[in-house]
Amino acid sequence: MSELPLCDLHIHVGSSVAPHIMWSIAHQQGFKLPVKDYWEFVDLITVNPRRDRTLADYLRILHEWTEKIQSSPAAVERSVYEIIGKEYRGSRVEQVELRFNPMKRNEHGARDLDHIIHAALRGMDRACLEYGVRAGLIFCLAREFDAELNAIIVDKAIMYQSRGVVGIDLAGTEQDPMELSDGVERYARLFARAHDAGLGTTVHTGETAATSGDGVIAVLDQLKPDRIGHGVRAAYSETALDRLADTGCVLEICPTSNLHTRAVRHLEEFRFILGTFADRGVRFTVNTDGTYLCSTSLRREFRLLAEAEILSLAELETARALAFEASFISPA
Ligand SMILES: [Zn+2]
Repeated sequence: MSELPLCDLHIHVGSSVAPHIMWSIAHQQGFKLPVKDYWEFVDLITVNPRRDRTLADYLRILHEWTEKIQSSPAAVERSVYEIIGKEYRGSRVEQVELRFNPMKRNEHGARDLDHIIHAALRGMDRACLEYGVRAGLIFCLAREFDAELNAIIVDKAIMYQSRGVVGIDLAGTEQDPMELSDGVERYARLFARAHDAGLGTTVHTGETAATSGDGVIAVLDQLKPDRIGHGVRAAYSETALDRLADTGCVLEICPTSNLHTRAVRHLEEFRFILGTFADRGVRFTVNTDGTYLCSTSLRREFRLLAEAEILSLAELETARALAFEASFISPA
């Protein structure tokens, strides 16, 4: 297991660039920072477990700093390039689907969206050529965006499919569980269009305790995604477990991220969650979500589950191999 190549299906551009690279990008662009010292900067853009305890804290760091610093073609190109190289060097990740929202990198329309997308593709091409890895981009729609903006993101994903965009995602804080059905329905046509165009589809849901398995059920019913980001709350819902097993929808599990945001309280809870998924035939993969924001690597995520004996070696191998199988990147 420690030698085998890995595939990361769930990793965000906004949470996976090393602080020293972000520092370099910020200075290169003349970005006005609120701090003068490098270590203060590190504190600003990374998670401090004593201060940042929820998913909202994580999203705030991304929104206030990382996305802004990454908002230029040069910054996006370097970010994508550096992430893919680091994943390969650090964890021998030979296949990676990197996700981001291009509309959160263009300064609210001040920068041309196509320039941002081309820059991401250039960064990806360079890294793939240098390291011999395979990669694809996933464009994230945002729950807080209006329908028109999300439709443009889907249009762009379809337009750039032949260049290396492999799928779409829906990200952002989920709504009140009582409104979940209504909330998710808004994206049904966009997801159907992306699917019909041959793109892979995935949705962030069932991550925090507030959303419960209802979010997973609503997403499966309305959006019919190939995969679900997180989905850990489904372990507490008989209906969600049945629906996941029936549809074969693959979960993108990100252990350290969930522990950091307190979405999952401790490793023992993961023992229950992943054990339940394995028992009930729910397919899942292991991913990072964000290597630097979560202070982890894909190799470390596997080691974490192995050393705590959360999963057996056979189960870990199943998750490792499934990531390649469930990837939106077409087989070599
Ligand atoms: Zn995520």
